[in-house]
Amino acid sequence: MKYTIGLKIGSKYGFGEIKELIEMGLKWNVNFFEITANDIGDLDYLIKLQQKGIRFGIHIPHSYTPDNPVALCATISPYKKKSLEWFKKSIEIAKKIKAEYIIFHPDLYKVPKGSSRFPEGIKFANNRKEGFRQLIKTIRTYRDNIPLLAEIMPGPDYYNYNLKESLKLKRITGVNFCFDIDHAFEVNQDINTVINWYKGIEKYVEVFHICDFDPEIRGHLPIGDGKIDFEKFFNQCQTRKGQIFILEALSYSKETVKKDLLSSQEKLERMIK
Ligand SMILES: [Zn+2]
Repeated sequence: MKYTIGLKIGSKYGFGEIKELIEMGLKWNVNFFEITANDIGDLDYLIKLQQKGIRFGIHIPHSYTPDNPVALCATISPYKKKSLEWFKKSIEIAKKIKAEYIIFHPDLYKVPKGSSRFPEGIKFANNRKEGFRQLIKTIRTYRDNIPLLAEIMPGPDYYNYNLKESLKLKRITGVNFCFDIDHAFEVNQDINTVINWYKGIEKYVEVFHICDFDPEIRGHLPIGDGKIDFEKFFNQCQTRKGQIFILEALSYSKETVKKDLLSSQEKLERMIK
């Protein structure tokens, strides 16, 4: 098989529980699922699926899940402790289901308002620096356990939000990447930025996250419903044999899950062939 198209499964990405969503995917012949570690649920069920040949990726929880305000680069108690706990826990889960990779979002723990001249801004700048140090330390501690992938992020409220930062992270830690086309597009809403960024780290991209974006509507749209010129991207960019593409489209309603996801899958297949 030339490539793999998998589904992101989780409370945020579908209308239903993990099991229900996986059963649905299996009916459509999907054999790869990426799951956020705090959404796992019945681990034995996943282990059984793995033994039958179903493949998995794990996403470490990040700061935008309100119930689990975990940011990997948190430097302030109690967030730091919690974030490291989730990192370890995600690795344990990943090993049990023989996940092929672990993705982390290089999030800051929070983003205080204010410019760099004022106290809140200074606090932010210091926290940012310390958060980056923490990130490097965490990657170095765990990188030999399982393939860690840093997701590329949508703007300066995060680390790893442009080509320069990705190359820096690569140089310091050796980490590979999850290239999220929607995130890359959000930085300045220009497909050329996305193409340029991808080409700069092409060799290190192991997984793609795929969904569409329209600033007037939202992110995580089915492919074709937003402003991203995927045709141009896939015309100009080479992808590798065995590359994993994870559909992260979020449906409009429970009734349209099948239509939204399958149409995205079809469009993607056509473009990457
Ligand atoms: Zn993503």
